[in-house]
Amino acid sequence: MVLVFAENTKGNFKKVALETVTYGKKTAEVLGTDCAVLTIGTVNNAGDLGKYGASKVYNVAYDGDFDSQVYTGIIAAAADSLGADTVIVSHTSTGKSVLGRLAARMNAGSVAGVNAVPTNDGTFKVTKSVFSGKAIAAYEVKSEKRVLSVMGNSLPPEETGSAVEVETLNVDVPQGRVTVKETKREEGIVPLPEAELVVSAGRGLKGPENWGIVEDLATALGATTACSRPVADSGWRPHHEHVGQTGVAIRPNLYIAAGISGAIQHLAGVNNSKVIVVINKDPEAPFFKAADYGVVGDAFEVLPRLTEAVKKMKA
Ligand SMILES: Cc1cc2nc3c(=O)[nH]c(=O)nc-3n(C[C@H](O)[C@H](O)[C@H](O)COP(=O)(O)OP(=O)(O)OC[C@H]3O[C@@H](n4cnc5c(N)ncnc54)[C@H](O)[C@@H]3O)c2cc1C
Repeated sequence: MVLVFAENTKGNFKKVALETVTYGKKTAEVLGTDCAVLTIGTVNNAGDLGKYGASKVYNVAYDGDFDSQVYTGIIAAAADSLGADTVIVSHTSTGKSVLGRLAARMNAGSVAGVNAVPTNDGTFKVTKSVFSGKAIAAYEVKSEKRVLSVMGNSLPPEETGSAVEVETLNVDVPQGRVTVKETKREEGIVPLPEAELVVSAGRGLKGPENWGIVEDLATALGATTACSRPVADSGWRPHHEHVGQTGVAIRPNLYIAAGISGAIQHLAGVNNSKVIVVINKDPEAPFFKAADYGVVGDAFEVLPRLTEAVKKMKA
């Protein structure tokens, strides 16, 4: 059996959880088995995960804060009790922090950040993107059990079924050895990995004092803002906005990049966007090669005009 751990935030399932369930269902089909889903703590509408391929949803009661050791213990115990040989988590900070522990606990082979549904011709094979998206690595997992984390935006959530029952699963919940003192969460903004619309800017904006025109366009569109790495490194924008090889990997429907050259390390995080619009005053900027639409022009002129056009259209 395939067991997917579906992460929730304040009881709700985000896109990444739905993607992971969809991935689990497709993996179960490859293996000729069922896909069960595990949720932890108080969750809303967990049965709806059946729409994305869960044949059954299990819930383990837990009211503490996230603790990697506790979650690993719960997921390993659930896999054991349900007889799951393949466990799938999201490649998020939560998933990454349980993956290695889980593999050790289950004596399983693990691949972190897979980007395509596995194949199984007697040997379980799965791929992941490496070298900033320039190459694909193919892995054979020869152990009896496997643990995978799925890179966000690797495949869209697919509604193929209907809601299923949620069953409470009683497993031993280990005692946490770490106490979370405080958690601060930014409210009201769609986090970058989940944003469908992103407006991003680079060093071409010259300084943090000029970000108003980026934010204006983002607000008009209902988009999330992002930036290139030097912009975050210089302290012009917070680090969580930095996209690319060493930052967040995104896959929005629309990525607007203003004053960003399009270095390979930047492209590694954004080249899965559906539509890329590049605004750069240098017609030779490498980003234009990856763009669906390009504007050769000064961001200080183009961004405000774009904002006006969006506002007009929305009105
Ligand atoms: C190991 C490693 C990892 C890295 N990881 C990342 C990463 O994750 N993400 C990332 O972004 N970078 C990363 N980098 C850095 C990357 O190589 C580039 O240096 C960086 O992306 C460049 O940022 P930029 O395009 O904002 O700045 P620049 O390269 O300085 O480009 C600025 C662009 O703005 C244009 N411009 C200037 N003025 C205007 C204007 N008025 N209007 C319109 N356009 C204008 C210029 O023509 C130029 O193309 C990494 C580098 C290394 C070595």
